Amino acid sequence: MEKAVTRFAPSPTGYIHIGNVRSAIYPYLLAKQTDGTFILRIEDTDQARYVEGATDLIKETLLWLGLNWDEGPDIGGPHAPYFQTERKELYLNWAKKLIAAGRAYADATPSEKIDEYRKEDTAKKIPYLYRNHRPTETTEWHEGIPIRFKAEPKNYTWVDEVMGELSAGPEVQDDIILIKKDGLPTYNFAHIIDDMEMGVTHVIRGQEYLSSMPNYLALYDALGLPRPKFVSLPHILAPQGNKKLSKRDGAKSVTDYREDGILPEAMLNYLACLGWNDGTEQEIYTMAELLERFSLSRIQNSGARFDETKLLWMNGMWIRKIHDEEGNDVLYSKINEKFWPDSAKDYPEEYRKKVLNIIYDRLKALKDLKSFSAYFFEEPTVDANLIKNNKILKKLSEDELSSLLNTVSLRLSEIQDWTEENLQDVLNELLETTGKKPAELFSLIRIAVSFAPFSPALNLTLEALGRERTIARLNLAARSID
Ligand code: GLU
Repeated sequence: MEKAVTRFAPSPTGYIHIGNVRSAIYPYLLAKQTDGTFILRIEDTDQARYVEGATDLIKETLLWLGLNWDEGPDIGGPHAPYFQTERKELYLNWAKKLIAAGRAYADATPSEKIDEYRKEDTAKKIPYLYRNHRPTETTEWHEGIPIRFKAEPKNYTWVDEVMGELSAGPEVQDDIILIKKDGLPTYNFAHIIDDMEMGVTHVIRGQEYLSSMPNYLALYDALGLPRPKFVSLPHILAPQGNKKLSKRDGAKSVTDYREDGILPEAMLNYLACLGWNDGTEQEIYTMAELLERFSLSRIQNSGARFDETKLLWMNGMWIRKIHDEEGNDVLYSKINEKFWPDSAKDYPEEYRKKVLNIIYDRLKALKDLKSFSAYFFEEPTVDANLIKNNKILKKLSEDELSSLLNTVSLRLSEIQDWTEENLQDVLNELLETTGKKPAELFSLIRIAVSFAPFSPALNLTLEALGRERTIARLNLAARSID
């Protein structure tokens, strides 16, 4: 396969949308598959939207996901610099070349005049196109006025690797701005120059740029540049309805999901499969598997629905996968301190690992760890109603409940060796001596020691809690019922 040169070209606006990151995954995979180059380019020419620290966030997110770039900020490369604001002269030179060739012009029209043109056209119910108002006299370019492209509208046909053959008429082709008043280029112009200078072979980006393609193709022609391959990724749709996912739909940023404790493996897996599949039923992919299976030809051309429940499910699958394949210690090492209950810091690592080992398969987002594991580290708030109103236990009288708890407490305190096996034996024996069903007896013990909605296998829970705490909690619960 020909070596692909791809790029991820985010704008540092602070918010990392799910779709932005997916636009990094596919170029990364293609570049790595072909032993090519994955470039990170920071498109920071829109000063009004620029957010301090946003570039760091982008870099951190890419590294977190394992999408290391081969050229770009921090590591440099043959096409440095990789920040567009530092490449200002380059764009200006190309714009001047276009002026010299008669394909661009400096435009001194005041903005009030431009507003008037827009209003006139709207009033006449004709599409507003600046080329219909192109100034007749030429102006020498100087800082403070824009440079515009001189459109020569015609029909265009092109191939998109995802959408197939496309065509568009002259309608949208216009005298688009190449260099803004502040001397910086527009996205429309800068990305074409950069992609060419950086040798980009595949332009992989969201479908929202499709409508501008005729203008881009006109620029490629005017600049005398060959077209790269175009790969338009499907829109990411909101969970409900047929609209694009937006912040208003409650879409969190990638950073928010990271804060919730979505593992990078799960995020990568989920986003890679949002708009791509390999034709099989497989849902869980490692990076190595993605590298093996990914192909541009299997990117879907219709919108992909974002489903947070699925993302959480996938995270749960990844937690289990890491635990079962790499071990509890590896999973433990991936869990940031902030996900543990504050009280866990007073306990030795061995104890925390033991707790993780018995509850990991219940976790979806790591942030659940706090509530799921709290009763292992601190005394739960006793709430007798949780016992009395429990679906299964409400058939039993209060007396019966407290006497059952006392019986259990007494019998457990006789255990010599507090092990999982011995606890299981005694729990089974208690079923026989009390004549209760497992659902009744075990629910009662479970709630009494945890006051949590659920806990792992009872013998494991009790073993981890230890004899003293188990007995004390059972006694306290028994007393709370009377
Ligand atoms: N700077 C553009 C954005 O953040 C990038 C589009 C592209 O990949 O060309 O949306």
